[in-house]
Amino acid sequence: MELESALKIVDKAEESIKDRFKEIDKVCECNQYKVLKAMQDNRLALRHFSESTGYAYGDEGREVCERIYADVFRAEVCLVRPQIVSGTHAISLMLQGVLRPNDTLLSITGNPYDTILATIGVNNLGEDLGSLMDFGIKYDKVDLKDDGNVDFEKVREKIDESVKAVFIQRSSGYKDTKALTIKKIEEAVQFIKGIREDIIVMVDNCYGEFIEKKEPLEVGADLIAGSLIKNPGGGLVSTGGYIAGDEENMKKVAARLSSPSIAFEVGPNLGVIRSYTQGLFMAPKVVSGAIKGAVLTAKVFENLGYNVFPKVEDKRSDIIQAVELGSEEKIKAYCLGIQKACAVDCFVEPYPWDMPGYDDKVIMAAGNFIEGSSIELSADAPIREPYIVYQQGGLTYEHSKIGTAMALKEIMELEGENG
Ligand SMILES: *Cc1c(COP(=O)(O)O)cnc(C)c1O
Repeated sequence: MELESALKIVDKAEESIKDRFKEIDKVCECNQYKVLKAMQDNRLALRHFSESTGYAYGDEGREVCERIYADVFRAEVCLVRPQIVSGTHAISLMLQGVLRPNDTLLSITGNPYDTILATIGVNNLGEDLGSLMDFGIKYDKVDLKDDGNVDFEKVREKIDESVKAVFIQRSSGYKDTKALTIKKIEEAVQFIKGIREDIIVMVDNCYGEFIEKKEPLEVGADLIAGSLIKNPGGGLVSTGGYIAGDEENMKKVAARLSSPSIAFEVGPNLGVIRSYTQGLFMAPKVVSGAIKGAVLTAKVFENLGYNVFPKVEDKRSDIIQAVELGSEEKIKAYCLGIQKACAVDCFVEPYPWDMPGYDDKVIMAAGNFIEGSSIELSADAPIREPYIVYQQGGLTYEHSKIGTAMALKEIMELEGENG
């Protein structure tokens, strides 16, 4: 099959979702203005891009960059640094910074993302490595209901005097449930603060940045954390994470990142300020392209009779698109198509392997400029029923579209062979 034929099918699907794209453009415009204004208000200047080294006391570039991120997230304070190595690190710091012995952490979106389980100590992971449980911090969770909503009744039952913080994961994080929209986060925050005002609400904001016009702190959350090699770095950032929130809690987080005596005051920028600010500047557009790509994938495969989630018309809260392909062969074909569409490593053939920390074999397609960056076009799937592939990213909408067409081509060729 020619790529032309696959592209024709994709073009046709694209034609029918133009109205959906207009809504996405509106959110992009709003967020573009938000980041621009933050840069102007903080008088970002060329001199801020110079590298600092060593302790970097009073590093102006770092301080301006952090104020810009704080303004964009509507936070009092934001830590944005290359010393935070990933989203997992950022989320861990948020938890470790604020929780104390005998406190309880209650997650109301089920268990957090896989890599956070050891930070908490779920299933004895992270034991003796300084998990929260090692320090006598307790953990409990309430799963999302089948319809993807927070189970408020159970949450009320679980909130007692020991609950210091509630944890919310905004993205679906590869579970089959829907992600939490800002509106749902707002409802959850109001419900929790209605029970006890002093409960700290923390949000794992990974994959959620710039999907909507508002971010979680604007609807009452206290702390958010995320990765710069996902949405907010706009594909230009080579490493880093952020945590944002109120001054009192952020001071504790900063003390955990460095140490209590130096908290925010030390941390060389290592020359990242240009990419951190330019990436943030590009992020609304990059994210909107990735969402359009996800919606397009949903439409293409829905038209062909596949089960997809979220659906085309669903309100989105992350950039992940799941397609239920139904067989291992199709998963491999899909991932091969995505890999062939990458600018880097297009000649590599992805295959399923036993990834540490996962029960099933996992296949991953990614040819990235930045290793592991999932704001770039990528796809992955655990090899288990019902054989769902998860696609995300694309630094441009057009790249994401080509990726979908190339994945479709591989799938159709496979179907052709099978008659
Ligand atoms: C990616 C992700 C993380 C972890 O971020 P890393 O940068 O991969 O460490 C945590 N939570 C969610 C929902 C994520 O998507």
